[in-house]
Amino acid sequence: MKITKNNCTGCGACMISCPTGCISMRENKLSEIVPYINLEKCIACKKCVNTCPQNKQLSYSTPYKCYVAWSKKSDDRIKSASGGIATVMARYQLENNNYFYGCDYDCNINLKHFLVNSEKDISKIRGSKYSQSNSYDIYLDVKEKLKDGKVVFVGTPCQVAGLKSIIGKSNENLITVDLVCHGTPPNEYLKKHIHNLNIKKIDKILFRGEYDQKLTILENENIIYQKDKTKDTYFSAFYANMISRNSCYDCKYAKGSRISDITIADFWGLKKLNNIDKMSNRPSLILINTDRGLKYFNEIKQYLIYEKRDVQEGIKGNGRLNNPPGKNIKAKIFQFLYPICGLDKSINFTNIIFNIYIHIKKLRARLQNLYSK
Ligand SMILES: Cc1cc2nc3c(=O)[nH]c(=O)nc-3n(C[C@H](O)[C@H](O)[C@H](O)COP(=O)(O)OP(=O)(O)OC[C@H]3O[C@@H](n4cnc5c(N)ncnc54)[C@H](O)[C@@H]3O)c2cc1C
Ligand code: SF4
Ligand code: SF4
Ligand code: SF4
Repeated sequence: MKITKNNCTGCGACMISCPTGCISMRENKLSEIVPYINLEKCIACKKCVNTCPQNKQLSYSTPYKCYVAWSKKSDDRIKSASGGIATVMARYQLENNNYFYGCDYDCNINLKHFLVNSEKDISKIRGSKYSQSNSYDIYLDVKEKLKDGKVVFVGTPCQVAGLKSIIGKSNENLITVDLVCHGTPPNEYLKKHIHNLNIKKIDKILFRGEYDQKLTILENENIIYQKDKTKDTYFSAFYANMISRNSCYDCKYAKGSRISDITIADFWGLKKLNNIDKMSNRPSLILINTDRGLKYFNEIKQYLIYEKRDVQEGIKGNGRLNNPPGKNIKAKIFQFLYPICGLDKSINFTNIIFNIYIHIKKLRARLQNLYSK
């Protein structure tokens, strides 16, 4: 039995909803985490099918306010993906004895969502992690915490959809924040890549922030590996849209209307500012999608430098706020090779095959030109 025919995102909501606990999340041949059903324990109640966001007409909100913003604290700006908005939210939640969920890698390179408990935890959630995190292990914890406080959950739109499916009815205490999402590679790819680099011990993995757009691996606060996004095999394949999870290529969340109360992203396409003199290097885009989102923005804006912008300016400049990327030729070749050759070899072979394909295409065009004269 398949829970969804519509490209599983790995959100894990089906597993959490199953009353007999017969669903486990495991890797498929592309190393994507997907649900497997133990049919011996299944009672055919279809709760999993009905919970799955991929099987539902979801309700999206149209953004009605847009801001360019960044944290007033320079350390937040330096160490965050863009303006440190999620970091500001995490600190505000902590200071008000409320709850914030974000993600980071553990020492075994597992990317997991967790409850932020301290300033040290805030430093962990900062920055974009370019692989898929396990968010489903905290859905029930979020449900518990909603009984006695306000919860902010930051994640990819498909994770927000998974969480909302588990929470059920709209809950005033839950503020959902989605990232505009380019796509996430299965976390196993990053593990394989780091394993192939022969790195045994890691403390921190960075893609954005202090060493922006470089894959940087630290151990004991020392950099033990660092390569630019164009030079590192994994990072360059991520940007080429070669190694995303299958569901990302026709992602149903890659559009202007949103699943969350607030959307945060890099503010690509930002034009001249009106009221702010000094520009941050990496300004954030904030889209307000619901009244709950606006109320929350009004609470945290004292910690931000911000300016109101036109909603269309925010949406137009950002590809993933307009449409999903579609599966390109590189992704198709990579997915064919991966089960046979593994990660790094498949990326390298894909690049070689792609270059040959481009050369043949150019040669054919030239020959056609020559014969038609
Ligand atoms: C995989 C991925 C792809 C992205 N693609 C785009 C894009 O195409 N266009 C664009 O404009 N912006 C994209 N972003 C968003 C952007 O890079 C920033 O994450 C966003 O602007 C927030 O920046 P910040 O400085 O406010 O966050 P920070 O204060 O740096 O905090 C980062 C927040 O993101 C969360 N987070 C980090 N990695 C993940 C992950 N893998 N899964 C779930 N949550 C995560 C952290 O838990 C934290 O809450 C992407 C982010 C990710 C993780
Ligand atoms: S049909 Fe019911 S019992 Fe079977 S896997 Fe789905 S939720 Fe679990
Ligand atoms: S999209 Fe989420 S709920 Fe649906 S099958 Fe996949 S993991 Fe389960
Ligand atoms: S691109 Fe879509 S399906 Fe892929 S991780 Fe992002 S929100 Fe989920």
